[in-house]
Amino acid sequence: MSTKLSQSEYDNIDQIFAQADAEVLKIEAPGRINLIGEHIDYNGGNVLPAAIDKCIYYSFKKNGSDKTSNVLSKNFSEGFTFDISVPEKPGDGWLSYLSGVLSEIEKRVPGKVTGFDCALESKLPIGSGISSSAALLCGFAKGLNELFELGIDDIEIVKLCQNAERIFSGANVGVMDQFAVVKGKKDHFILLDCDTLEYKTIPAAMKSNVLLLLNTNVSHNLADSAYNERRAQCESALEIIQSKYPQVKTLVEATEEMVEEFKEELGEDRVKRATHVIQEQKRVEATVEALKNNDFELVGDLLNQSHDGLQNLYEVSCPELDFLAAYARKDDRVLGARMMGGGFGGCTINLIDEKNVDSFVADAAKAYKEACNLELTPIPVKTNNGVQKI
Ligand code: ADP
Ligand code: MG
Repeated sequence: MSTKLSQSEYDNIDQIFAQADAEVLKIEAPGRINLIGEHIDYNGGNVLPAAIDKCIYYSFKKNGSDKTSNVLSKNFSEGFTFDISVPEKPGDGWLSYLSGVLSEIEKRVPGKVTGFDCALESKLPIGSGISSSAALLCGFAKGLNELFELGIDDIEIVKLCQNAERIFSGANVGVMDQFAVVKGKKDHFILLDCDTLEYKTIPAAMKSNVLLLLNTNVSHNLADSAYNERRAQCESALEIIQSKYPQVKTLVEATEEMVEEFKEELGEDRVKRATHVIQEQKRVEATVEALKNNDFELVGDLLNQSHDGLQNLYEVSCPELDFLAAYARKDDRVLGARMMGGGFGGCTINLIDEKNVDSFVADAAKAYKEACNLELTPIPVKTNNGVQKI
């Protein structure tokens, strides 16, 4: 059971932000983008994410108590005091995510974490598909790992945070977000095989081109049930294909011919979902090649095609995302654009020459306001290292 911190208790914990002594551990945890490979991680395929230069900042300090800990989030202007051995209920606000991390740590290294104070402040928009949730969990887990010298390696941190998010958010999330947040490398994308967790870093030098996120300011809060539904559709599509082709271990290994062969049994929705997954996986490979060849026109085309798949086949977009993707596509200043993340809101990712960013953003914001009556928030991003001590 947790209790809300009073204002004076909050102010007291808040002070550790300003402290620069050796007892206070400072951590930054980046958000992530995904260049391409959307809704692929839980289908066992390859994705191409990167950590970004927008982060959550933490200050941690041991407080000398056995189990009583305090944590506050500046963004929510609230904090809690709680017993680390008593888990919060899943789905019960942001503290339940952190409690989930503590439970997962306890399973691996019992009894090593004792009372601590933690204050955090995020520069990431929340619920916008840049994975503030994975940043929150992974920064917290890595911070505790460091503070209490738990010796948990990065891959185990990734897995424990994925599990905590799965249990405490109600969405059966894949592994990409946590992996990118923990293992990100400045100036690189990560080509991650979500089945084996093998990965390669891919240089992100793109000449004068940059990545620009456009936040629709539509929150994807209602997406969890649709997410779980898509996941279940993919799992059952795979089972149907495996009935004749047992060698197909993940849906990305299936072919469009196989989907065609089983189209009656699959039915329209599962045909569309599987087709997106198979085509999107090919686009990831093509994007890696195009980046190698400095063919940014092609990268842009692949982003556009990815949006089409997400809009029409996977059906996880929304009118605001579709508007921005279509607007970018007919504008010569943008090489390509697509919705990014789980969908139903959040951001588009745009590949654009740096010199065109300001003029494009001004025009797109005006058009978006007229069409959707919403403000557009541009977020220029650069690739970054994963969670680190500062
Ligand atoms: P996103 O696309 O940003 O990951 P999610 O819905 O997956 O969106 O996660 C958002 C949730 O993560 C919030 O509702 C909250 O519970 C938690 N969260 C993110 N950032 C913070 C923060 N700075 N302080 C407290 N909780 C946060
Ligand atoms: Mg999230």
